Amino acid sequence: MLDELEQLKRLSAKVGRDLTLTQGAGGNTSLKQDGQLFVKASGKWLANACEEPMFLPVDLERVRRAIPVGREDTDAAKPLIETPLRASIETSFHALLPQSVVVHVHSINTIAWAIQREGADRLEALLTGLEWRWVPYIRPGLPLTRLMAERLAPQVNVWVLANHGLIVAADTVAEAEALLNEVESRLAIEPDPQPWEEEKLKGLCANGQFQLPKHPVAHQAALGKRRVRHAIEGSLYPDHTVFLGPACASINRIDQFRKQWKMEPKAVVVEGAGLLLAAGVSDGAQEMAACLGLLLERVDAVGDVVYLHREEVCGLMNWDAEKYRQSLT
Ligand SMILES: [Zn+2]
Repeated sequence: MLDELEQLKRLSAKVGRDLTLTQGAGGNTSLKQDGQLFVKASGKWLANACEEPMFLPVDLERVRRAIPVGREDTDAAKPLIETPLRASIETSFHALLPQSVVVHVHSINTIAWAIQREGADRLEALLTGLEWRWVPYIRPGLPLTRLMAERLAPQVNVWVLANHGLIVAADTVAEAEALLNEVESRLAIEPDPQPWEEEKLKGLCANGQFQLPKHPVAHQAALGKRRVRHAIEGSLYPDHTVFLGPACASINRIDQFRKQWKMEPKAVVVEGAGLLLAAGVSDGAQEMAACLGLLLERVDAVGDVVYLHREEVCGLMNWDAEKYRQSLT
């Protein structure tokens, strides 16, 4: 039988290859064993969990002790082995939770509910019978972990993080996977894919300023008035901000975007045709463009959304820990 860490790697790779659960370096998993917490390294892609070393042992008690008093996760989560890698920005909530196995994903189905104004109320019916908690949006890292600590109870094993994602926890990898599947099936939303206009988009790429997205599903973000509004009005979850910037620009209003955000847009929506990315964007940005398309082709059916506040967006774009993660992606 495979040991638990080996099983965790397999589950991580499976979860990491599923774009509806994980995009790029997002999401992280961990295992507690003999006083150590094995947690995914920052910037690494779960999809590669079986091919490259990415689980770093950190001192579980040390990370736990730092939760109420620490300044940032990385202070206490120094790996117990010699490595150039850093532990995940989100290590502290892995340490906080009592269960041995913790799986955190940026699940599209979860995010579609977790960006709703009435999200917590609506999930009440969908998740009935499960021991779950809603956590209002707060910056990932120690602030999030402290908010979770206020809501912690030993039996709670499902956490919905507003404008962010999902955490499931269990005592074995197999149980964590089963719980993840259960939550995913309860929160599943049927997507409504629309046709995009490849030729028109190619024409707009002719001057070399833009490129087509690697994942065609990204176009869905531009196919419909409401989707376009959601794409250009702001950022719905932290990784969008970190990898794609504060919002998408509308092709007709790029100047307005530049004026508002003092930067060039990384993603541009062409209403009714599809989505373009700036030439040379990172692989992480490509993944986040797919994330947005997958999300917005589901959100139409659900309701009205809440964006991150401008201060939250600016904070994420200037956060050192995030700059490190982006540099790896
Ligand atoms: Zn996250």
